[in-house]
Amino acid sequence: MPLTSLTFDNAFVRDLPGDLDHGRGARQVQGALYSRIDPSPVAAPRTVAWSREMADELGLSEDDIASPFFAQVFGGNGVLEGMQPWASNYGGHQFGVWAGQLGDGRAISLGEALTQRGKRLELQLKGAGATPYSRGADGRAVLRSSIREFLCSEAMHHLGVPTTRALSLVVTGETVERDMFYDGHPQDEAGAIVCRVAPSFIRFGHFELPASRNDTTLLRQLVDFTIRRDFPELSGSDENRYGDWFSQVCARTAIMIAHWMRVGFVHGVMNTDNMSILGLTIDYGPYGWVDNFDPDWTPNTTDAMRRRYRFGQQPNVAWWNLSRLAAALAPLFGDVAPLQAGLDRYVAEYMSQTRRDAAAKLGLYECRDDDVARMESLQRLMHEADVDMTLFFRALSQIDIQAPSLGPLRHAFYDDAKRQAAEVDFQHWLDDYAARVREDAWTSEQRQQCMHTANPCYVLRNYLAQEAIDRATQGDYEGIHTLLDVMRRPYDEQPGREHFAQKRPEWAKTRAGCSMLSCSS
Ligand code: AMP
Ligand code: MG
Repeated sequence: MPLTSLTFDNAFVRDLPGDLDHGRGARQVQGALYSRIDPSPVAAPRTVAWSREMADELGLSEDDIASPFFAQVFGGNGVLEGMQPWASNYGGHQFGVWAGQLGDGRAISLGEALTQRGKRLELQLKGAGATPYSRGADGRAVLRSSIREFLCSEAMHHLGVPTTRALSLVVTGETVERDMFYDGHPQDEAGAIVCRVAPSFIRFGHFELPASRNDTTLLRQLVDFTIRRDFPELSGSDENRYGDWFSQVCARTAIMIAHWMRVGFVHGVMNTDNMSILGLTIDYGPYGWVDNFDPDWTPNTTDAMRRRYRFGQQPNVAWWNLSRLAAALAPLFGDVAPLQAGLDRYVAEYMSQTRRDAAAKLGLYECRDDDVARMESLQRLMHEADVDMTLFFRALSQIDIQAPSLGPLRHAFYDDAKRQAAEVDFQHWLDDYAARVREDAWTSEQRQQCMHTANPCYVLRNYLAQEAIDRATQGDYEGIHTLLDVMRRPYDEQPGREHFAQKRPEWAKTRAGCSMLSCSS
């Protein structure tokens, strides 16, 4: 039998209570953390892209992936021995408001694979059909958003950002109807299914739902399970373990957010149901990458008015989301001091990670208080003068610190007039920066090396993903493969691929999919 290298140990469905109703119909599911449900079959599944690293980790060969059998399983047309598909039950705060039960409306987990290296990796299909949590929607996903999730989760991994991963992208041979801008113009679009992979897909909202129903027994069961399976280092009978665990969640979240801010990633929908308990970036929807540095930017048109989830707001939103998690966990704590301590740890961890990142981005031994101010004044200048974040930081290592000038950075400006207006201020900043750099004893090579670990050359700019989507819509998947390959080594200059490391072109500034995205996917 093919794909025999995959062995499963489905702890989530084995150890936690499930729904007694086995139907597909939409319903409120009480007292249970999941519903067993098989994927709905599709007409003509075909694997069009896959991640070599993820396949390796799972012990799958190129032949395994190429076999039609793989497309059948990862398109939802059959399950392997040991798989026990389920959709999990969670709630969440959406845009600051408690939304009640949400759940996996279009995600179906197939099983928890155990790798040869002893890692647990849950395989989850996104877009595999309706579940009891679909709330009247179709449980499907369109090709364009599936490409975006597939590419971005792998790109984030290679950038060193904690994230869920993607194994495969399978087209279904079916169409899905979507009203992309919610303006009464629905269209048929190609359907697809991504197999995403993570040690755990448990979200803050998994804890919030039983807490909202005063089901403390279920809440405690889930916390104990999560610690046992996903935080084994905290297991044991120590009475402080709930507090230690929450503190860990806070620290991991802080590190994830600091990475987002370092690389210019905007999640777009930081609802509590989209926050992973492992501190992984999860649920790639209307996300985007900052081109011109702008803390107020959001790619999500659904959030364009209030901009709750704008770039510069992400650290605060993550804190707020953690405070919702703390409130949900409070019934398990006699004294809430450990929860407050966890939230404080988030702030401390975020600050110290941000300082480490600032030092690395600027090529300094360490980040002093005056360096924090230096970074902030640079960001202000970049914002005012419309400067490309990725290009600027990457090129900053090229500055001659004996005689600094704006020369090596000119190409990072979007607007000549704004550049000219800001030139004197930038020159002042560079003079001060160069003097600061000269205090450290690094050679230029050492400094550059340090800066190149924190300032990527290639990020998945929104328009690059859109170009790959446009080609795929015509049946040409080569753009996805090339882009995935570029994003494998984002910190290395790749000769011949300079055009993947350029400013957003003018046409992409206002084009749908490039700077404006909706939740419709
Ligand atoms: P999201 O905004 O993608 O995080 O989704 C919020 C909730 O809506 C989750 O419970 C999803 O499972 C559900 N959902 C989103 N799109 C669909 C869909 N096409 N079919 C069923 N459920 C969906
Ligand atoms: Mg979601």
